[in-house]
Amino acid sequence: MTIDNDKINQLEKLIDNAKDIVLMVHANPDGDNLGSALGLYHVLKNAGKKPSIVSTDSFADFYTFLPGIDKVNVFYKSADIVKDLMHTAELIFCMDFNAPHRVGKLEDILKQTMAPKVLIDHHLYPDENFFDLMFSRPGTSSTAELLYHILKKSKYASDIDYNAALSIFVGIMTDTGSYSHSCNDPETFEVSAELIRYGIDVKKVNDLVYNNSSEQRLRLLGYAISEKLVSRPEHKAAYFTLSREELKRFNEQPGDTEGLVNYGLSIRGIDFSALLTEKEDLVKISFRSKENLNVNRFARDYFNGGGHINAAGGRSYENLEKTVEKLESLLPKLKEYYD
Ligand code: 5GP
Ligand code: MN
Repeated sequence: MTIDNDKINQLEKLIDNAKDIVLMVHANPDGDNLGSALGLYHVLKNAGKKPSIVSTDSFADFYTFLPGIDKVNVFYKSADIVKDLMHTAELIFCMDFNAPHRVGKLEDILKQTMAPKVLIDHHLYPDENFFDLMFSRPGTSSTAELLYHILKKSKYASDIDYNAALSIFVGIMTDTGSYSHSCNDPETFEVSAELIRYGIDVKKVNDLVYNNSSEQRLRLLGYAISEKLVSRPEHKAAYFTLSREELKRFNEQPGDTEGLVNYGLSIRGIDFSALLTEKEDLVKISFRSKENLNVNRFARDYFNGGGHINAAGGRSYENLEKTVEKLESLLPKLKEYYD
């Protein structure tokens, strides 16, 4: 990957001039988000800096094996500490998100901070005015892979250790669905090979992420697929809905519905899958698609969201029933979203 030397120099200068550095993750952080933030965390620590990670939300149990994850400051658990860290930060890294609204309840605090902001991300259409230095590569498998390329080109390459490598590896592994999509670029595998050389046990890491669910999670998955899948083959579409009552029944925990939406795409002839989960004050929607069906555009046009061409998120402020009606009414339009 070619990265402008000038930008690497600017990045090194910003890091040189800072000691207290905050790494921010987006709302409901996933494996790539946590992996890239933790990868950078370990590198900065090894370089003698004082990094902290801040998150609006908690995260899935199956990421707790990531080294350093116990150091993540979660806003709803320790609001004062998070506010303090953000206001005293001399440099802020925005990891794996493209606009300040993506940090949920921390949005206003992030906007008030004075520190320079560096973006490291692979989502489409970053908010260019918000960041002081941008590393934005929508074509890259994951933010974690992008981070690795940046680090390797910088003077911090020698600060990558096993903990950083493991974190970055988990980011790439999870954002490519265990190397099943977004990884046609051989560089993704070359980077992964280099990371494995730090001593990563690939099978063990896979087991820790994918074979480490609660029984309830598997039952929720089974229930959703068996009872809640709606298939609309005439529109090449499928979707699932989960109400608050249903989620409560299965004692849903952060991360429990991660991956469910992909099962819609496993049906032959289906190009579009959505998962609608009812939250306290909104309905969260995950979109996934095959080939050139652009769900980023669909999520932006109708559901206050965005993301990537084949994976995007959105939200609706109407109730679940009304949101389903809206989605149903939009299914005939899907044919306009094949790029
Ligand atoms: P998920 O369905 O896992 O929540 O999101 C799918 C992808 O879209 C992830 O890469 C996520 O970061 C991104 N995403 C989710 N919501 C939004 C949004 O509102 N805006 C943008 N730009 N990306 C989003
Ligand atoms: Mn990502």
